[in-house]
Amino acid sequence: MLEEQTICSDDVTICPHCNQRMKKWRVPDFSTWSADYFYVCFNDSCPYFVKGWEHMEKTMQQHTSYRHHYDPSRGVCGPLPVYSKTALRGDIIEE
Ligand SMILES: [Zn+2]
Repeated sequence: MLEEQTICSDDVTICPHCNQRMKKWRVPDFSTWSADYFYVCFNDSCPYFVKGWEHMEKTMQQHTSYRHHYDPSRGVCGPLPVYSKTALRGDIIEE
């Protein structure tokens, strides 16, 4: 895991890695998370997401990455694994 995984911004809806506003993302019913939604950084140029591919390839031999997310129900932030650039996008809650 990356060491910066637990860094949260003062404004938890802003990604600390790229300073972009994160989007609300509906947590799937079948997941083990109790939250209704997370804030997720869907910026494909986010350094966290970009570096994730390299990092996972090297350390896990897996072609995956992760996006920064904040879980408002637990008040924690960290990596949310994704398998492609388009993964998870279907559940973005547009406001
Ligand atoms: Zn970001």
